[in-house]
Amino acid sequence: MSTSVDHLLEVRQAIARAEAEANRHEGSVTLVAVSKTFDADEIRPVLEAGQRVFGENRVQEAQSKWPLLRADYPGIELHLIGPLQSNKNEDAVALFDVIETVDREKIAAALAGEMKRQNRFPKLYIQVNTGSEPQKAGIEPKEAVAFVKRCRDVHGLTIEGLMCIPPAGENPGPHFALLEKIARKAEVEKLSMGMSGDYEIAVGFGATSVRVGSAIFGSRS
Ligand SMILES: *Cc1c(COP(=O)(O)O)cnc(C)c1O
Repeated sequence: MSTSVDHLLEVRQAIARAEAEANRHEGSVTLVAVSKTFDADEIRPVLEAGQRVFGENRVQEAQSKWPLLRADYPGIELHLIGPLQSNKNEDAVALFDVIETVDREKIAAALAGEMKRQNRFPKLYIQVNTGSEPQKAGIEPKEAVAFVKRCRDVHGLTIEGLMCIPPAGENPGPHFALLEKIARKAEVEKLSMGMSGDYEIAVGFGATSVRVGSAIFGSRS
Protein backbone atom coordinates (compact mmCIF):
# COMPACT_ATOMS: atom_id res chain seq x y z
CA MET A 1 0.00 0.00 0.00
CA SER A 2 1.40 3.38 -0.87
CA THR A 3 1.97 5.90 1.88
CA SER A 4 2.02 9.64 2.27
CA VAL A 5 5.78 9.55 1.66
CA ASP A 6 5.33 7.72 -1.68
CA HIS A 7 2.70 10.29 -2.60
CA LEU A 8 4.99 13.14 -1.56
CA LEU A 9 7.72 11.87 -3.88
CA GLU A 10 5.24 11.45 -6.74
CA VAL A 11 3.98 15.00 -6.30
CA ARG A 12 7.57 16.30 -6.22
CA GLN A 13 8.30 14.48 -9.49
CA ALA A 14 5.15 15.79 -11.10
CA ILE A 15 6.09 19.34 -10.12
CA ALA A 16 9.57 18.87 -11.60
CA ARG A 17 8.05 17.58 -14.84
CA ALA A 18 5.63 20.52 -15.00
CA GLU A 19 8.48 22.96 -14.36
CA ALA A 20 10.49 21.44 -17.22
CA GLU A 21 7.49 21.49 -19.57
CA ALA A 22 6.90 25.16 -18.78
CA ASN A 23 10.59 25.97 -19.32
CA ARG A 24 10.88 26.99 -15.71
CA HIS A 25 13.90 26.31 -13.52
CA GLU A 26 13.76 23.15 -11.46
CA GLY A 27 12.91 24.10 -7.90
CA SER A 28 11.18 27.36 -8.79
CA VAL A 29 7.87 26.05 -7.38
CA THR A 30 7.50 25.51 -3.64
CA LEU A 31 5.35 22.59 -2.50
CA VAL A 32 3.10 23.55 0.40
CA ALA A 33 1.91 20.25 1.92
CA VAL A 34 -1.61 20.87 3.23
CA SER A 35 -1.91 18.90 6.47
CA LYS A 36 -5.30 20.13 7.70
CA THR A 37 -7.38 17.43 9.43
CA PHE A 38 -4.36 15.12 9.72
CA ASP A 39 -2.85 14.71 13.15
CA ALA A 40 0.77 15.08 14.17
CA ASP A 41 1.54 11.39 13.86
CA GLU A 42 0.29 11.38 10.27
CA ILE A 43 2.43 14.43 9.47
CA ARG A 44 5.67 13.11 10.99
CA PRO A 45 6.60 10.69 8.15
CA VAL A 46 6.34 13.55 5.66
CA LEU A 47 8.61 15.65 7.90
CA GLU A 48 11.02 12.71 8.16
CA ALA A 49 11.09 12.63 4.34
CA GLY A 50 12.36 16.20 4.37
CA GLN A 51 9.22 18.23 3.64
CA ARG A 52 9.33 21.52 5.60
CA VAL A 53 6.62 23.76 4.12
CA PHE A 54 3.07 23.07 5.31
CA GLY A 55 -0.37 24.65 5.04
CA GLU A 56 -3.17 24.67 7.60
CA ASN A 57 -6.57 26.31 7.26
CA ARG A 58 -7.53 26.78 10.92
CA VAL A 59 -5.54 28.68 13.50
CA GLN A 60 -6.71 26.60 16.45
CA GLU A 61 -6.04 23.26 14.80
CA ALA A 62 -2.57 24.42 13.77
CA GLN A 63 -1.83 25.52 17.34
CA SER A 64 -2.66 22.06 18.59
CA LYS A 65 -0.12 20.36 16.29
CA TRP A 66 2.71 22.60 15.17
CA PRO A 67 4.47 23.94 18.26
CA LEU A 68 5.39 20.34 19.19
CA LEU A 69 6.35 19.35 15.64
CA ARG A 70 8.46 22.49 15.34
CA ALA A 71 10.40 21.51 18.41
CA ASP A 72 11.32 18.21 16.73
CA TYR A 73 11.97 19.42 13.16
CA PRO A 74 13.91 22.63 12.56
CA GLY A 75 13.22 24.88 9.59
CA ILE A 76 9.46 24.48 9.31
CA GLU A 77 7.57 27.14 7.33
CA LEU A 78 3.88 27.23 8.16
CA HIS A 79 1.28 28.84 5.85
CA LEU A 80 -2.22 29.90 6.90
CA ILE A 81 -4.45 29.13 3.91
CA GLY A 82 -7.89 29.46 5.53
CA PRO A 83 -9.93 32.55 6.41
CA LEU A 84 -8.68 34.64 9.30
CA GLN A 85 -11.20 35.72 11.95
CA SER A 86 -10.32 38.96 13.66
CA ASN A 87 -10.25 37.36 17.13
CA LYS A 88 -7.48 35.03 15.88
CA ASN A 89 -5.05 37.67 14.59
CA GLU A 90 -2.79 37.51 17.61
CA ASP A 91 -2.44 33.72 17.46
CA ALA A 92 -2.03 33.73 13.68
CA VAL A 93 0.81 36.25 13.77
CA ALA A 94 2.51 34.29 16.55
CA LEU A 95 2.30 30.92 14.78
CA PHE A 96 2.40 31.34 11.00
CA ASP A 97 5.29 32.31 8.72
CA VAL A 98 3.06 33.12 5.76
CA ILE A 99 -0.57 34.32 5.93
CA GLU A 100 -2.11 33.77 2.49
CA THR A 101 -5.65 34.93 3.15
CA VAL A 102 -5.61 38.70 3.69
CA ASP A 103 -8.73 39.88 1.87
CA ARG A 104 -10.14 42.96 3.54
CA GLU A 105 -9.18 46.27 5.02
CA LYS A 106 -10.11 45.33 8.58
CA ILE A 107 -7.78 42.33 8.57
CA ALA A 108 -4.95 44.28 6.96
CA ALA A 109 -5.20 46.94 9.66
CA ALA A 110 -5.43 44.41 12.49
CA LEU A 111 -2.46 42.41 11.18
CA ALA A 112 -0.37 45.55 10.80
CA GLY A 113 -1.00 46.45 14.45
CA GLU A 114 -0.46 42.93 15.72
CA MET A 115 2.78 42.44 13.77
CA LYS A 116 4.21 45.62 15.28
CA ARG A 117 3.12 44.61 18.77
CA GLN A 118 4.76 41.19 18.51
CA ASN A 119 7.68 42.42 16.39
CA ARG A 120 7.03 39.36 14.24
CA PHE A 121 6.45 39.75 10.53
CA PRO A 122 4.89 36.82 8.67
CA LYS A 123 4.88 37.20 4.89
CA LEU A 124 1.48 38.26 3.58
CA TYR A 125 -0.48 37.23 0.50
CA ILE A 126 -3.80 38.66 -0.69
CA GLN A 127 -6.53 36.13 -1.48
CA VAL A 128 -8.39 36.98 -4.68
CA ASN A 129 -11.87 35.57 -5.37
CA THR A 130 -11.15 35.05 -9.08
CA GLY A 131 -14.56 33.45 -9.71
CA SER A 132 -16.44 36.16 -7.77
CA GLU A 133 -18.23 33.41 -5.84
CA PRO A 134 -20.47 34.86 -3.12
CA GLN A 135 -19.70 32.07 -0.62
CA LYS A 136 -15.95 32.27 -1.11
CA ALA A 137 -13.42 34.46 0.69
CA GLY A 138 -11.12 36.78 -1.20
CA ILE A 139 -11.14 40.28 -2.61
CA GLU A 140 -12.94 40.88 -5.91
CA PRO A 141 -10.54 40.79 -8.88
CA LYS A 142 -11.40 44.33 -9.96
CA GLU A 143 -10.57 45.67 -6.47
CA ALA A 144 -7.41 43.66 -5.97
CA VAL A 145 -4.76 46.02 -7.36
CA ALA A 146 -6.10 48.96 -5.35
CA PHE A 147 -6.29 46.80 -2.23
CA VAL A 148 -2.65 45.73 -2.55
CA LYS A 149 -1.75 49.40 -2.88
CA ARG A 150 -3.74 50.36 0.22
CA CYS A 151 -2.14 47.54 2.21
CA ARG A 152 1.22 49.06 1.30
CA ASP A 153 0.48 52.76 1.48
CA VAL A 154 -2.08 52.95 4.29
CA HIS A 155 -1.08 50.01 6.48
CA GLY A 156 2.65 49.85 5.72
CA LEU A 157 2.46 46.15 4.90
CA THR A 158 4.75 44.28 2.54
CA ILE A 159 2.58 42.17 0.24
CA GLU A 160 4.56 39.27 -1.17
CA GLY A 161 1.99 37.38 -3.16
CA LEU A 162 -1.53 36.57 -4.30
CA MET A 163 -3.53 33.41 -3.70
CA CYS A 164 -6.66 32.01 -5.36
CA ILE A 165 -8.96 29.00 -5.23
CA PRO A 166 -10.72 28.60 -8.60
CA PRO A 167 -14.41 27.59 -8.57
CA ALA A 168 -14.90 23.83 -8.25
CA GLY A 169 -15.69 22.11 -11.53
CA GLU A 170 -14.45 24.96 -13.71
CA ASN A 171 -11.42 24.99 -15.97
CA PRO A 172 -8.85 26.55 -13.60
CA GLY A 173 -6.61 27.95 -16.36
CA PRO A 174 -8.40 31.29 -16.83
CA HIS A 175 -8.41 31.82 -13.05
CA PHE A 176 -4.68 31.18 -12.79
CA ALA A 177 -4.09 33.52 -15.75
CA LEU A 178 -6.21 36.22 -14.10
CA LEU A 179 -4.28 35.94 -10.83
CA GLU A 180 -0.99 36.21 -12.73
CA LYS A 181 -2.22 39.31 -14.55
CA ILE A 182 -3.34 41.00 -11.32
CA ALA A 183 0.03 40.17 -9.73
CA ARG A 184 1.88 41.85 -12.59
CA LYS A 185 -0.28 44.98 -12.32
CA ALA A 186 0.11 45.11 -8.54
CA GLU A 187 3.84 44.34 -8.74
CA VAL A 188 3.52 41.28 -6.55
CA GLU A 189 5.96 38.41 -7.06
CA LYS A 190 4.51 35.25 -5.55
CA LEU A 191 1.56 33.27 -6.85
CA SER A 192 -0.03 30.62 -4.61
CA MET A 193 -2.27 28.62 -6.91
CA GLY A 194 -2.98 24.99 -7.69
CA MET A 195 -4.24 22.17 -5.44
CA SER A 196 -4.26 18.36 -5.73
CA GLY A 197 -6.44 18.37 -8.85
CA ASP A 198 -4.70 21.10 -10.81
CA TYR A 199 -1.23 21.90 -9.46
CA GLU A 200 0.55 20.83 -12.65
CA ILE A 201 -1.64 23.21 -14.65
CA ALA A 202 -0.91 25.99 -12.15
CA VAL A 203 2.84 25.50 -12.62
CA GLY A 204 2.30 26.17 -16.32
CA PHE A 205 0.58 29.46 -15.45
CA GLY A 206 3.43 30.66 -13.24
CA ALA A 207 2.58 29.40 -9.74
CA THR A 208 5.47 29.96 -7.34
CA SER A 209 3.82 27.70 -4.77
CA VAL A 210 1.20 24.97 -4.98
CA ARG A 211 -0.97 23.85 -2.05
CA VAL A 212 -1.37 20.07 -2.18
CA GLY A 213 -3.25 18.14 0.49
CA SER A 214 -5.16 14.99 -0.48
CA ALA A 215 -2.67 13.94 -3.19
CA ILE A 216 -0.13 13.56 -0.38
CA PHE A 217 -2.05 12.69 2.78
CA GLY A 218 -5.05 10.92 1.23
CA SER A 219 -8.69 11.96 1.30
CA ARG A 220 -9.99 13.84 4.31
CA SER A 221 -12.84 12.30 6.28
C1 LIG B 1 -7.61 22.15 1.67
C2 LIG B 1 -6.98 23.20 0.85
C3 LIG B 1 -6.03 22.89 -0.12
C4 LIG B 1 -5.62 21.46 -0.45
O1 LIG B 1 -6.63 20.83 -1.15
P1 LIG B 1 -6.40 19.39 -1.85
O2 LIG B 1 -7.41 19.36 -2.92
O3 LIG B 1 -6.59 18.38 -0.80
O4 LIG B 1 -5.01 19.41 -2.38
C5 LIG B 1 -5.45 23.93 -0.82
N1 LIG B 1 -5.79 25.21 -0.59
C6 LIG B 1 -6.70 25.56 0.34
C7 LIG B 1 -7.02 26.99 0.54
C8 LIG B 1 -7.33 24.57 1.08
O5 LIG B 1 -8.24 24.92 2.01
